[in-house]
Amino acid sequence: MIIDCHGHYTTAPPAHEAWRDQQIAALRDGGTPPPRPVISDDEIRESIETGQLRIQRERGTDLTIFSPRAAGMGHHLATAEANARWSSECNDLVHRVCGLFPSNFVGVCQLPQAPGVPPANCIAELRRCVEELGFIGCNLNPDPSGGHWSGLPLTDRCWYPLYEAMVELDVPAMIHVSSSCNPNFHATGAHYINGDTSAFMQLLQGDLFADFPTLRFVIPHGGGAVPYHWGRYRGLAQDMKRPLLSEYLLNNVFFDTCVYHQPGTELLAKVIPVGNILFASETIGAVQGIDPETGHYYDDTRRYIDAIGWLSDADRQRIYEDNARAVYARLSRQLDRQLATPATQGATV
Ligand SMILES: [Zn+2]
Repeated sequence: MIIDCHGHYTTAPPAHEAWRDQQIAALRDGGTPPPRPVISDDEIRESIETGQLRIQRERGTDLTIFSPRAAGMGHHLATAEANARWSSECNDLVHRVCGLFPSNFVGVCQLPQAPGVPPANCIAELRRCVEELGFIGCNLNPDPSGGHWSGLPLTDRCWYPLYEAMVELDVPAMIHVSSSCNPNFHATGAHYINGDTSAFMQLLQGDLFADFPTLRFVIPHGGGAVPYHWGRYRGLAQDMKRPLLSEYLLNNVFFDTCVYHQPGTELLAKVIPVGNILFASETIGAVQGIDPETGHYYDDTRRYIDAIGWLSDADRQRIYEDNARAVYARLSRQLDRQLATPATQGATV
């Protein structure tokens, strides 16, 4: 089985995000947001069948760990209360996708973070998504200010209540920023990669996993700049008298394969141990064109993994499936549960 650990519902029916715009406008103008639009199962089916499911079939992947659109989280755009409503609407929609396509998608939730608000405010939605909707992880925004980095690092104790809930529920977080309100940082070209890189450095500086030895993070987009600069991070750890990164961080920190060219993917697989790499494409996402040098889509990341001749079949098996099942510890059980349920439950949510 080929599991893509990083997909967002970027093709959700437009009325869904239009409502968010109305919600933000109402907040600004002191009004109340309009009722939520009615989105039919047929609209969801069409958005998936012509989008992510078509790509799964074309590229020969089997299952996507699926979450709301990351840039759409927009934690910096509204209050904690408004973000809570928005998160639950986004998560419910992803749950409907998983209900309609139970063998193709398993859910990961958006959290109702907000700038200056303690992350503990996210625990109720995390619990609802895991315990009631069958989600297997969350996306955690390390910078809910949207590009100003006005909050505290991921190792600060203000995050601990959320981590305690994650550990109790046995779910990982993908560390994933949202859109950027700072014009210095293009969202997917700079802010995302900055977020990945900064989060890793925060983890290196702190000693979070001494307190949470089973907490697991996935750093997306190939780990940002981290694998390319692995020597810098090893050296910084050494200067700070930290243990070797392999012992210090790599029991808890994993990287996905959203690197959109062959040399970058090979570097990732050379530098980062195979046991820490999870296959992912982030389709349909940041880069949607065809590479004129190869004639293939940049985000067709399976091609790059398949083309690395020195990976063994056992290595590929870990990258494609085993590591995802280990990091997302609830995945196997949830998939069995979904496959045992007729594909109609989406209609009832
Ligand atoms: Zn993403």
